[in-house]
Amino acid sequence: MKLSKFKNEPFTDFTKKKNRQDFEKALNKVTKRFNIEYPVTIGGEKFFTDNKLYSFNPSDKEQVVGVFQKASAEMAIKAIEIANNTFHDWKKTPVKERVKYILEAAKRMRKRKHEFSAMMVYEVGKNWAEADGDTAEAIDFMEYYSREMLRYSEGMNVVQIQGEKNKCEYLPLGVGVVIPPWNFPLAILVGMTVAAVVTGNTVVLKPSSDSPAIAQMFFELLEEIKLPKGVVNFLTGDGSVIGDLIVTHHLTRFVSFTGSMDVGLRINELAAKKQASQKWIKRVVAEMGGKDAIIIDSEIDNFDNAVKGVIQSAFGFQGQKCSACSRVIVDEKLYDKFCDALAEEAKNIKVSAAADNPNMGPVINERSKNSIVNYIKKAIDEGGKLIFGGGELSTKGFFIQPTIIKDVKPDATIAQEEIFGPVLAVIKSNNFDNALEIANNTLYGLTGAVYSRSKKKLEKAEKEFFVGNLYLNRKCTGALVGVHPFGGFNMSGTDSKAGGRDYLGLFMQAKSIAQKTKN
Ligand code: NAP
Repeated sequence: MKLSKFKNEPFTDFTKKKNRQDFEKALNKVTKRFNIEYPVTIGGEKFFTDNKLYSFNPSDKEQVVGVFQKASAEMAIKAIEIANNTFHDWKKTPVKERVKYILEAAKRMRKRKHEFSAMMVYEVGKNWAEADGDTAEAIDFMEYYSREMLRYSEGMNVVQIQGEKNKCEYLPLGVGVVIPPWNFPLAILVGMTVAAVVTGNTVVLKPSSDSPAIAQMFFELLEEIKLPKGVVNFLTGDGSVIGDLIVTHHLTRFVSFTGSMDVGLRINELAAKKQASQKWIKRVVAEMGGKDAIIIDSEIDNFDNAVKGVIQSAFGFQGQKCSACSRVIVDEKLYDKFCDALAEEAKNIKVSAAADNPNMGPVINERSKNSIVNYIKKAIDEGGKLIFGGGELSTKGFFIQPTIIKDVKPDATIAQEEIFGPVLAVIKSNNFDNALEIANNTLYGLTGAVYSRSKKKLEKAEKEFFVGNLYLNRKCTGALVGVHPFGGFNMSGTDSKAGGRDYLGLFMQAKSIAQKTKN
């Protein structure tokens, strides 16, 4: 099987009228799915419960975008058992066949990409470009991991010794529990699921309760391509209720999680405990939060670019990216000018319902909105000065103004805890070394950026800025599959580097085989 070289899926150019019209049609089309009730699917069998899960449009909180089931404990256990039974066949399916399924899914998603993006506009409040980027990334993961699996299927390159034939090949692990977040509700869900499936594992997929509708669309795509029943089992429901059951089940072989630090650590701890009749050490891949910083050095080439880069990184998708800039650390020589420029640039940010394609839509839900508002209050109580925004907007949805707070102390609450909303803390530094020290002084280590023209300082950042994804003279969001393998240090997770060459290895185990050929 020979595939063309991997290329990233291009983003849609929404300055073109035809593309805008097509997207509007897709927005209209997906509304037909609203209010429909969707089942839990285990081994191809559909299940309904009395306990329903409603997915709401955060731009218009009265609007239901889909009705789902809250899976029961019995269903959760059944899903693991069916995945385990299916594993015995699926692991024998030749790699090329597994790859064909995934490429077919990629092809069909590409054809209907606006429909997938449109659902994210309604379900999680992404503007058009953010939703389009999410779908493009999902397609990229399918294309990239297909190619990677073909490479892995050739085995590890081992040294041959005389008198033996030596090889080392990769085997799948078993049943994987896949738990994605809502903020990249298609890309991350698809990436984690496809990585598990293409490597020969079976999956219990538990989407976020804030984004089951887009997950359902992907699951329907897997049904459409006739992926054998039971390879992916679709289990909606409350993470805090069924999560523990599927993580601790003795037949679960690995957990692939992306989400908050607290939940990730809990999963890691639960998975580490051996259950009765469990035969393996469970593997946990946990990608977690961030408190990402951009350093603005005293020597920068293009002041306006730096201001724009910070604003985009802080407020793209309402600051709800694990990679979002939530701290900007500015050298004292530029500090006042930079603060003024940030506040000026923020005036251009339009906030409204995501379907209208503003710069910023709503935050995900009421709980998140309240938590963000509390963080803003706390920042001011702790001595920060509000220089832009700070308030809630319309009550129809969960809208918050882009908010910039200056004079934040490096150890203040908003400089340390992940807020996951449109709030930017501005921190003053005395010099570049001090800026690096501040940047590294949190529990996290996900993304970071430096704007400087000094080669020496950039080299220093390469060595000392302790983050999994470092960007120099550009924004700290927008990682591309294959180009910027993604994952963080410290409490940001296991640094699995999604979209990179090492990633699929996490879903497999290697077996070394030596055969005597002569005496
Ligand atoms: P979350 O609250 O931790 O939820 C993530 C997933 O875990 C959801 O599917 C959730 O299901 C499930 N869950 C909750 N409690 C569980 C339990 N006890 N056992 C098993 N599963 C459980 O995170 P989120 O709000 O969805 O996502 C935002 C977070 O993800 C941020 O911290 C962000 O930085 C991080 N993130 C990290 C990366 C990265 O690559 N490092 C990428 C994207 C996002 P329910 O929805 O049903 O509760």
